[in-house]
Amino acid sequence: MLGAPPLSVAEGLPDLGEAAQADFSPAQERRIGESVMNEIRRDPAWLGDPEINSYLNRLGNRLSSQIEENRQEFDFFALRDSTLNAFALPGGFIGVHSGLILAAASESELASVLAHEISHVTQHHLARLMNKSGQGQVTSLLALAVAILAARSSPDLAVGAALAGQGAAIQNQLNYSRDFEREADRLGLGLLERSGFDIRGMGSFFERLQKSGRVYENNAPGYLRTHPLTTERLADMGNRIQGRPYKQVADSLDFQLVRAKLRAEEGTPRDAVTEFESHLKDRSFSGSEAAMRYGLAEALMRDGKPAAAEKELAELRRLKAVSPMIETLAARLRLKQGDAAGAVRILRSALPHFPQERAIAYGLVEAMLEVRLPADALKVTEDELLSYPSDARMHALQAQTYALLGKRLQQHRAQAEAYALRGQVPQAVEQLELAQKSGDGNFYEQSQVDARLREMKKRMLDEAKQAKDLKR
Ligand SMILES: [Zn+2]
Repeated sequence: MLGAPPLSVAEGLPDLGEAAQADFSPAQERRIGESVMNEIRRDPAWLGDPEINSYLNRLGNRLSSQIEENRQEFDFFALRDSTLNAFALPGGFIGVHSGLILAAASESELASVLAHEISHVTQHHLARLMNKSGQGQVTSLLALAVAILAARSSPDLAVGAALAGQGAAIQNQLNYSRDFEREADRLGLGLLERSGFDIRGMGSFFERLQKSGRVYENNAPGYLRTHPLTTERLADMGNRIQGRPYKQVADSLDFQLVRAKLRAEEGTPRDAVTEFESHLKDRSFSGSEAAMRYGLAEALMRDGKPAAAEKELAELRRLKAVSPMIETLAARLRLKQGDAAGAVRILRSALPHFPQERAIAYGLVEAMLEVRLPADALKVTEDELLSYPSDARMHALQAQTYALLGKRLQQHRAQAEAYALRGQVPQAVEQLELAQKSGDGNFYEQSQVDARLREMKKRMLDEAKQAKDLKR
């Protein structure tokens, strides 16, 4: 239950003996993380930008692939929030605020925060906070995860109370203990180093975080509240870094483009345009010109000036900058000017070059639906789902495609898969029941729906039973 105030739990604990979590199975941790994610996806701060999330996942996986015997699955995602924060939920879900991405002076700095969070996950720090308090219950871990969310930015996040299912006040501050922080720093530094980043990134970023904390005073940035930064910790980090050879690591184009995109979407469109223009004019930017042109094009598009944005796109092509993000920008520019067919052309030819980039596939299906090419769109969704069967968004796009084709059974069946993958089992059941009643499927399709509905109903019962057992 929610009664345990995380702060008192965090005090006076740690015996950092073993990393193994005692009372929570990885599957339990994952399920807790997933239920919190369902709430996060409904939060207004949820960015849901497949390009930014896919970049964070590439960066995060580069780090996590350095963990020995890594069996943990990770999911990284961005939230639109100007505070400097990042947080880990049980089950490997790691959220990063846009403010933190924009505050990072280098990719190594951003990587250092991800490495630190990854280490909180692999060491099961959250679960261990619960175990030490003698309440190894999934509901307490869930409450703790909710408390992290609440501490994330606003203390009165409605999500918390709703999720915990009880009205108790949520402790809005969760402090990892100092020892957990030190452990996450130490292991994070190792990951950073083995992944080929500049390990000085960790020291420099955390030092700047601390300085910004002084400026904010009581209203310290979220990261400092959930990950207390002490002089001791900084000194510790300094000692580890000392004597290591200096390593110059260039930032990837993706890192620069992601930052430019986030910046272009902030504030008023006019301000964003002016900022990129002035950087380009005085050549006052640390990264590549391409990233500045890209940001300017995004800002101009937002400002309702697609023709000017097209000029910047032409400059990007001239600079021979290659990234899937430039292709989706080109396609969005076409769409903005009412040329959906042009968007289809661009994305159709980009897809084979960037087969793993989800944003290209999503954009292509959406553009095909816009120009009423449902048969082509269906083919793309089928191909994509063969490679990525658990892509919930692609199942949802397939449902839209079937709707346009007038195939109701298939539409509801696809929508059910989208819900099931997001852990929304009752909604999946509802969709399968609609599919059953649609009356436009053949015998084979009907039996498939019947079988899937039985599975989903069983899952719904099992989950309800588990939840009840846990409350006992
Ligand atoms: Zn931490």
